[in-house]
Amino acid sequence: MADRLAMDEVVEFTSDLIRLDTTNRGGGDCRERPAAEYAAARLAEAGLAPVLLERTPGRTNVVARVEGTDPSADALLLHGHLDVVPAEAADWSVHPFSGEVRDGVVWGRGAVDMKNMDAMILAVVRAWARAGVRPRRDIVIAFTADEEASAEDGSGFLADTHPELFEGCTEGISESGAFTFHDGLGRQIYPIAAGERGTAWLKLTARGRAGHGSKVNRENAVTRLAAAITRIGAHEWPLRLTPTVRAALTELAALYGIDTDLGDVDRLLEKLGPTAKLVEATVRNSANPTMLDAGYKINVVPGEAVAYVDGRYLPGGEEEFRTTLDLLTGPDVDWEFHHHEVALQAPVDSATYAGLRAAVEEFAPEGHVVPYCMSGGTDAKQFSRLGITGYGFTPLKLPEGYDYQAMFHGVDERVPVEALHFGVRVLDRFLRTA
Ligand SMILES: [Zn+2]
Repeated sequence: MADRLAMDEVVEFTSDLIRLDTTNRGGGDCRERPAAEYAAARLAEAGLAPVLLERTPGRTNVVARVEGTDPSADALLLHGHLDVVPAEAADWSVHPFSGEVRDGVVWGRGAVDMKNMDAMILAVVRAWARAGVRPRRDIVIAFTADEEASAEDGSGFLADTHPELFEGCTEGISESGAFTFHDGLGRQIYPIAAGERGTAWLKLTARGRAGHGSKVNRENAVTRLAAAITRIGAHEWPLRLTPTVRAALTELAALYGIDTDLGDVDRLLEKLGPTAKLVEATVRNSANPTMLDAGYKINVVPGEAVAYVDGRYLPGGEEEFRTTLDLLTGPDVDWEFHHHEVALQAPVDSATYAGLRAAVEEFAPEGHVVPYCMSGGTDAKQFSRLGITGYGFTPLKLPEGYDYQAMFHGVDERVPVEALHFGVRVLDRFLRTA
C-alpha cells in the first residue's frame, strides 16, 4: 500500500516540517502552531478530521482518528512530537532549518527527533486514503507540542484535559526504536523499545551556619553539599534486571553464542562488546550531579548551598532510588524532586510486540530484533496515565557508520531518504496488520 507517492511525500514532509522552525528553548519559548497546521492540512486532505488543541496560544497539538474496521478492537495511539531542541547554525555543515536533501540525505533539526516519524505517519495514512485501506483497529494520531520541555503544553495537557480523544487506546507507538544498530562485526540489530526509565531530577539544599570566611565553621553549607554530591556521584548502584532488559540480554547472548549468565551481568556486557551500549544504561538506577549554586563572596560562608542531580530509575526501582538518596544526602542536606516522571514497562510477549517484530523482519530479514529499555523518557510517560502502554518504534534502516544515537540533539542531524522509505513500508505493514 505504501505507493510511489508515499515515498516522495515522506521526504517532502520531513523537509517541510524541518523548515517550520519549532525550536523549544524551554520556559514556554516555542511555537509549534505552523507545524501543527501543516500536519492537520495533510491529514484533512486524506479525509480525516483533525482537531487542533492548545493550552497556551501557539503551543498547538493535533489529534485525529482513523476508524478501523473492527469496532470491538482496542484502539492504537500513534504519536509524534512537533517541537525540536535548539540548533546553533554556525556549528552545522548545512543550515539546521533548511530541510535540504543532499546526496540522498535529508538534513536538519528534527530529521531524526522526530519530524521523520511525523512525516512517516502522514505519508502512510494518505497512502491508505488513496487506496481505500482501513486498518482493523481504530488508530488515533497525535502530533504533540512541548515534548522537549515539560510536556505541560503537549501530551500532559492532552492526557489531563482531553482523555475522550484517546478513548479505547490501550497501546501507543512512538520514538525511538526499530533503527539499525550495527555491531561492527557484520550483525544488524533492531532494538524495539519496551520500557523507559523514570525521570528523577533532584534539587538538593544544604543548610548551615552563615558567617565570616576566616572563622572556624563546622556547619558550612558548601562543605555539606559537596560531601553529599560526592557520595551521590561515587555511588555504585546495584544491578537490577527488569523483564525487558532480562529479555534483551537473553536474546543478545543467544545471538552472540555467549552463556546467558544473568548472575554476572557485568561480565556478560563485557562479552557483548559495542552491543552492550543497548543495555548498559538500563541495568541500574543512576544519579549524576549536574549543577551547583552556592555563595556570593569569597570571604562569606553562605547559609545555604544548592545542587541539581539528574536521576533516572528503572521500572520498579523508584522506592530503592528514594531510600538510597535519603542515605546519600544524609541529615544535613534535603532533597526534593525538581521534576519527576514515571518509569514504563511494556510486555515483550504481547501480540503488538510480535507484530512490530514481524514488520521489521519482513523488510530487514538480515536483522535481529531485540527489545530494549530507553534510558530517558518520551511522551509515552504522559499517555501512560490513560492506561496506554508505550512502545518505541520509529523504523529506520541505517547504513553502517551512521551514528543514530549521536543524531539526537546533535550537530548535523540528518536521515537517509532510504531510511525514510523503509520506515514507511514497515509502519504501513505493522499498522495494517495490528
Ligand atoms: Zn524526541
